[in-house]
Amino acid sequence: MSNITNDKVEKYITERTHAVSNIQEEMELYAKENVVPIVTRDTLALLKTIVHINKPYNILEFGTAIGYSSIMICTELKGNCKITTIERNEKRYLKAIEYVKRAGFQDEIDIINVDVLEAGAIIENGLYDLVFIDAAKGQYRLFFDMIFEKVRSGGIIISDNIFHKAMVCEPEICSVERRQRTIYRRMNQYLDYLTTENESFYTTLVPIGDGLAITYKR
Ligand code: SAH
Ligand code: MG
Repeated sequence: MSNITNDKVEKYITERTHAVSNIQEEMELYAKENVVPIVTRDTLALLKTIVHINKPYNILEFGTAIGYSSIMICTELKGNCKITTIERNEKRYLKAIEYVKRAGFQDEIDIINVDVLEAGAIIENGLYDLVFIDAAKGQYRLFFDMIFEKVRSGGIIISDNIFHKAMVCEPEICSVERRQRTIYRRMNQYLDYLTTENESFYTTLVPIGDGLAITYKR
């Protein structure tokens, strides 16, 4: 498995995406030391651009980890948003609570400690402008089907880590490690589904970070 991007290019871009706060740098360090897979700086830069273009208010995130992407998006929107974010891992959830409090976004970011697959009732009454899918890679299609009706027309669904270190892009399953094959199969089905021409949405696959799918709901 390898980086999906050219190392030189990624380094170049990363050097040009600056931290906006001490808390950002601290979270990046914590994530590195504790091997928490937060979005890369180049992916974050694109997310910020997307929120400026689409100006979402109601945001839903699957996979909070320590709250990095949520806090960064909320910061970029100057707190003018309502983010619901879901995390099943208790240690990460508690860390996220701590960082969100320190960032001063307790009123804007609602973190829920539950498995996304059990979160149906939580998202039931929502209508979202932006959904960020960044949790278990084998279930993206399930997650997508859970939220699609809850996204407003003109809204955006972003899926992260779609290429999983380029493993997903192997032309043949036989060159994929056995324990990765379920993810390989399911992610390929998901990306085929997202990119099939249809009336409901339009998707572009972006080779940034670990791979990003940006879906526009028509
Ligand atoms: N969005 C974060 C990173 C999330 S990492 C950021 O960029 O800052 C992915 C997280 O999803 C992990 O913390 C993992 O515990 C969580 N996760 C994976 N599958 C999940 C599920 N089914 N329900 C809830 N959380 C899940
Ligand atoms: Mg991710």
